[in-house]
Parts: sequence; structure tokens; C-alpha cells
Amino acid sequence: MNIFRGQVEARQVFPYPNVLNEEQKETLQMLIDPVTKYFEEINDPFKNDAEEKVNDKSLNALWELGAFALQVPQDLGGLGLTNTQYARLVEIVGAHDLGVGIMLGAHQSIGFKGILLFGTPQQKANYLPRVSSGEFAAFCLTEPSSGSDAGSIKSRAVLSPDGKHYVLNGSKIWISNGGLAEIMTVFAQTPITDPKTGKTVDKVSAFIVERSFGGVTSGPPEKKMGIKCSNTAEVYYDNVQIPVENLLGGLGNGSLKLP
Ligand SMILES: Cc1cc2nc3c(=O)[nH]c(=O)nc-3n(C[C@H](O)[C@H](O)[C@H](O)COP(=O)(O)OP(=O)(O)OC[C@H]3O[C@@H](n4cnc5c(N)ncnc54)[C@H](O)[C@@H]3O)c2cc1C
Repeated sequence: MNIFRGQVEARQVFPYPNVLNEEQKETLQMLIDPVTKYFEEINDPFKNDAEEKVNDKSLNALWELGAFALQVPQDLGGLGLTNTQYARLVEIVGAHDLGVGIMLGAHQSIGFKGILLFGTPQQKANYLPRVSSGEFAAFCLTEPSSGSDAGSIKSRAVLSPDGKHYVLNGSKIWISNGGLAEIMTVFAQTPITDPKTGKTVDKVSAFIVERSFGGVTSGPPEKKMGIKCSNTAEVYYDNVQIPVENLLGGLGNGSLKLP
């Protein structure tokens, strides 16, 4: 197929079924041009790299393009794209500026993805328009002593005596958009009592946490060797009061533990 000579036979490399209908193809084509134009004319990857942040003008243009809400349903403020349409646009982003790619990906591929997939109608109605129109999202799982072994996290959220809040304490490291995010998907251990045995065990649950809840702070941006314009920071939670309505996907459903 001569791939090493720069001649790619796409049909051989990507033998996947054609999953987009005509309308979806047209929508995608309408987006490819402005996204490509944005990266060729507005975004400057070298400036972003040198300044270790996405330049304000570039950032505002991305929000205006709808680039932060590619898969949010249209009635909630996004473009409502399929996975295939999303992947095609991300391909263009990655080819031009991976740092911008991490910022966009951390926001929507993980930051608010849980809300999109498992949020209640109320959680979706409350948060998806906000993450589509200027508020950053982040995915907060990794901790100083817990990376690949995600089930071993130590952050803990305990139900308040009046049953209205979970009180969250702990800290996270290497959180993309961690210094920018107003809305975060945060994982923490929660005590769960088995009604049959009366035994209490810790299981991981996910929560939607807003910086405005109070008790949420973040560290300075980490110095990195690449993808410098993407913000990576520690995030600390000190007695953060999370309303019970902000439990995401059910108590103890934040991870699958292997037997
Ligand atoms: C730029 C950047 C951005 C990030 N953004 C986020 C973010 O937005 N949100 C977030 O939650 N986290 C984020 N992370 C953290 C990232 O998810 C973790 O780095 C990752 O989960 C790996 O954890 P670790 O670094 O502790 O490595 P470790 O878990 O210590 O792994 C180190 C090495 O050991 C290997 N290893 C681990 N366990 C085993 C095993 N049982 N058997 C064999 N090999 C093993 C791993 O494959 C790896 O090669 C980010 C990290 C970086 C560098």
C-alpha cells in the first residue's frame, strides 16, 4: 500500500462501514471548512506554546465556533454531532495544535461526558448549556497515590447528617483544565451499607462539582515538555458541600471493580 512512501490507500487502512447518512455528511462538510480555516488563519500553535496558554482571541473564536459542545444535543446548546463526525473534526484539531486538542478533549471527551451519558434530565438541562457557552469542564480522577489503579483513590464524600449534601475532601493531580474548570466530574469513595449484612464498604461514586460550591481550589499550571497550552493542575477539595442531586450515575457506580 506504499504507506511509507506517503501513498495511503484509505480503503485498505480504514476498512470501516460508512456510518454517516447524507444529511450527516453534509453537516460535517459544512463544519470541516470553518474549522480548517480557524486553524490556518486564527489559531497560532507557536504563540500558544510560547505563552503556555491558549491565546484569548483563539479561545473566544473556539467558543463561537461551538467547538466546546460538538456532541451536546442541539436543544441544549450544542451541535449534536455523532461520534464519527466528532472524530473527523478532532482529527483536524490534532493535526494543527495538540494542546488545543487536549483542552477541547478534556472538556468534552471526559470533562462533561459523564453528564452527557449518565446525567438525569435535570442534570443535563442544568449543566450542558453552561459547558456549551463558556464554562470549562474537567474530569477529576487521578490522585497522588492513584493513577492506573483508579479504584484506589482516597478522596472521600460522606453524606451530611441532614441528608442534603455529600461533604467532599481530597485532592487530585494532573487535571487537564483543572485551573480553568467551573464544572467538574469528581470521583470519590463513598461509604455504602449493605442492607442485608449491615456491613459498610467504600465504593467509588461520581459527582458533579461546581467551583462555586466553595472549598475548591487549584494549583498553578504544571510545566510540561509538550502540549504546553493545555492547562494541567492540581485540584483540592476541602469540605466541599455537594447537593445530593449532583450524584452522577448512582451511588457506588463510579467504577467497576474486578473480582
Ligand atoms: C498531560 C496529562 C494530563 C492528564 N489529565 C488528566 C485528567 O484530565 N484527569 C485525570 O483524572 N487524570 C489526568 N491525567 C493523569 C493520567 O490519567 C494518569 O497519569 C494515568 O492514569 C496513569 O497514572 P500514573 O501516571 O499514576 O501512572 P501509573 O499508574 O503509576 O503507571 C506507571 C506505568 O506503570 C504501568 N502499570 C500500572 N499498573 C500496572 C500493572 N498492574 N501492571 C503492569 N503495568 C502497570 C502503566 O501502564 C505505566 O506505564 C493526566 C496526565 C497527564 C500526563
